[in-house]
Amino acid sequence: MDANVVVLGTDNVGKSALIVRFLTRRFIGEYGDIESLYTHNVVVDGREQTLNIWDSLMCEKRVQWADGFVLVYSICDRSSFNAVSRLIQIIKTTRDFLGFEKMPIVIVGNKRDLHHRRTVLSEEGRLLALSADCQFYEVSAAENYHSVLMVFHGLVDRIRESRVSV
Ligand code: GDP
Ligand code: MG
Repeated sequence: MDANVVVLGTDNVGKSALIVRFLTRRFIGEYGDIESLYTHNVVVDGREQTLNIWDSLMCEKRVQWADGFVLVYSICDRSSFNAVSRLIQIIKTTRDFLGFEKMPIVIVGNKRDLHHRRTVLSEEGRLLALSADCQFYEVSAAENYHSVLMVFHGLVDRIRESRVSV
């Protein structure tokens, strides 16, 4: 069964960079502002998984479509971190996830390479994820493929868990 994934966050946090890194292993540097839907196959725990990934603008219309969410902020941009908190609330109220079921959400603090400009501590990201029962990663789409891969593999795990628990 396909898994539908929406990548959300404010402008300029690196949503497109993250997706392109995942799909191509490359970092290009400049990305357009167009909404795009990608389809990609991955193998997670020995099983193939087809992912449909929306590189989405800050809109709520994809929330119903999604099986899982990647919520991205930049560690250099506090307002983008606050926006992730709001997105979690929107997802919670829009979708009636069962109480015992973990929401398939991964919170991503991107631009880890820009640590000298950091304004959001790792601990804050971790606490937000803990309070919302989400996964959390700090990554650099610019410098590191592996951590980006972990994000999407982690999400696939979450989506599969949510499917067996219904
Ligand atoms: P989007 O608006 O969320 O899709 O953001 P983009 O993917 O277009 O990235 C916005 C800008 O941030 C671009 O100039 C990217 O090159 C840059 N960028 C994205 N990810 C990183 C990162 O991990 N580190 C650094 N230093 N820059 C990044
Ligand atoms: Mg973009």
